[in-house]
Amino acid sequence: MNIVLLGAPGAGKGTQASLIQQKFNLVHISTGDIFRANIKGGTPIGKVAKSYIDAGKLVPDEVTCDIVRDRLQQGDLASGYMLDGFPRNVFQAEELDKFAHIDVCLNIDVDASFLMDRICGRRVCSCGESYHVSTLGGRTTCAKCGKELYQRADDNPETVKSRLDTYFTQTAPVAEYYKKQGKLINIECGTKSPAEVFELVSAALEGLGK
Ligand code: AMP
Repeated sequence: MNIVLLGAPGAGKGTQASLIQQKFNLVHISTGDIFRANIKGGTPIGKVAKSYIDAGKLVPDEVTCDIVRDRLQQGDLASGYMLDGFPRNVFQAEELDKFAHIDVCLNIDVDASFLMDRICGRRVCSCGESYHVSTLGGRTTCAKCGKELYQRADDNPETVKSRLDTYFTQTAPVAEYYKKQGKLINIECGTKSPAEVFELVSAALEGLGK
């Protein structure tokens, strides 16, 4: 099963991605993680990506599509994969259809009014765990692995505003694209906890196999 995981910045996509990966044995492919690894490694792709990411803008389509095309050609995807952060606009979704078969798009649907606070209060660990300052009680290390938590460089109010604008103008139409293909599953989060959202996600994915 190959899935696209869609959701605004701060919708809790990363948390759901790691739960889905564990339960459904899908390879997690996050374009944001790939870019951040390239920036850290000082690669040419990282140098191009950094200016866009710092401004809260999308990295150009040709760079992003090439990265995903290359990643999908690696031989470790027999059990299926989950794309997180891609496609980010309808052009990328159309390109993806040229080199991959997507079974379903899961849209993690969160009320826009929650998002700014969630992202600006986010603290992350290099192991992939993510927290909100309001739940940390002053702790600065990861409860899972003990490493120091940090704030992503693009999780500041100015960049977040631009990321949210980009999401609602460019990425939200991707849900409609998959709806037209009969592949969209909308997960309405309301005020549900991550565990409750995952119950809905699990039920939806298990239902597909029946
Ligand atoms: P994320 O970790 O998914 O929030 O991505 C962080 C940043 O990486 C985004 O704000 C974009 O600048 C860039 N990025 C990630 N995925 C894509 C994509 N599919 N297309 C263009 N830019 C992307």
